[in-house]
Amino acid sequence: MTVPLVEIAGLTVDFEKDGRLSRAVDGIDLAVAPGEALGIVGESGSGKSVMWLAALGLLPARARVGGSVRIDGQQLVAASPRLLEQVRGKRIAMIFQDPSSCLNPVHRIGWQLVEALKLHRRLDGATARAEALRLLDQVGIADARRRLGDHPHQLSGGLNQRVMIAMALAGQPDLLIADEPTTALDATIQAQILALLGDIRRDTGMAMVLISHDLGVVAENVSRVAVMYAGRLVEEALGKDLFGGPRHPYTQGLLAALPDLTGPRRQLAAIPGTVPEPGKAPAGCSFAPRCPVAEPRCQSDPPASRRVGLLHRSACHLSIEPGFSAWALPRAAE
Ligand code: SF4
Repeated sequence: MTVPLVEIAGLTVDFEKDGRLSRAVDGIDLAVAPGEALGIVGESGSGKSVMWLAALGLLPARARVGGSVRIDGQQLVAASPRLLEQVRGKRIAMIFQDPSSCLNPVHRIGWQLVEALKLHRRLDGATARAEALRLLDQVGIADARRRLGDHPHQLSGGLNQRVMIAMALAGQPDLLIADEPTTALDATIQAQILALLGDIRRDTGMAMVLISHDLGVVAENVSRVAVMYAGRLVEEALGKDLFGGPRHPYTQGLLAALPDLTGPRRQLAAIPGTVPEPGKAPAGCSFAPRCPVAEPRCQSDPPASRRVGLLHRSACHLSIEPGFSAWALPRAAE
């Protein structure tokens, strides 16, 4: 990888409740290169969003964040509010699943965009209004001049998500974190928004992290994928390698659960059990209670991430060769 834009090392997040700490993110090492599209996948509760909220200092006071997050070498963990304000929106912007809960319902779209431009680029008056118009055009909103005067409730979910993307672009960020950006939208609008994000990334050269529980969404829109489980990174590879030859039993289980649109009809294979709650992960490999090939050592020793191919890493004690599925092997432990 070229010199990373963002470098995360040993990132941990613990939440304090009733005097006890529960670990939600457990030692993440991850880098994002300038201009790259990285997908982060995993079931709900795996820590995908918490990791980035921690990086941007957006977690509540009861969260304890450890480790390091650097952008162009500048440390963000425990950084001053002033530095974080300079980074948020300007260097790293974030869009969320539900745009209607992020936009202010009492202000017009134009006013909200102009505020973002004032904050991040110190634009004002006619210049800010012209830039707001350009941004709405850029995100494909027809009749943008009229839409500037609309309130969020007058727009559909898809249009509101386009407005959120325009607001995220207002600061001309180097990295856009798109956190489940299409989950609340229907399939057609979802495809349009993902295509829009891809076009903007290519046009502007910004990097993008696409967080999703939907492997299909990630497969078509990123070049590299990181899989998270119970706060840990369990597999990381180029998209073609991960989808063509997953090596970690969890990734293999996720892919086996996808319906096959071309083959004969079959019952969907689900991974049994659920992701452990923060603070309740087993001592060894967090996936052990659900893993079809768990061994006795998996109960006590957390597996380290190791290289299993060119730019391909997996955190599993077993060496599962490409083409073999842990789910097709005899169970080693019940
Ligand atoms: Fe975890 Fe062991 Fe299963 Fe690998 S084989 S995923 S280390 S439980």
